[in-house]
Amino acid sequence: MRDDLDRSIAILQGERPAPAAGAGYPQDSADAGSSLSEADRTEAILHSARNQRDGVIAALTRIETNAYGRCVDCGGDIPEGRLDARPDAARCVGCQSKHAKRR
Ligand SMILES: [Zn+2]
Repeated sequence: MRDDLDRSIAILQGERPAPAAGAGYPQDSADAGSSLSEADRTEAILHSARNQRDGVIAALTRIETNAYGRCVDCGGDIPEGRLDARPDAARCVGCQSKHAKRR
């Protein structure tokens, strides 16, 4: 899953007009020009792919520390059905909905 995301991010970065290969979070250039909407869309996809990858990496870290499957907020077990649907879930359903509302 992480490899897939890394590949997607690499491809998306390759499509970006700015020479940003290798840079983790490149700065937006002010003179984006006519391809702005295309760049914006790519940027939005990149952003969500990075968020997803961060979640996967965090999940892998939790596996290594034996904290996988435990809610990062309340410490309770995350139901297996939820982990099937969202393998990178960091919170139980209750804490996740509270977390989503906070944002
Ligand atoms: Zn919880």
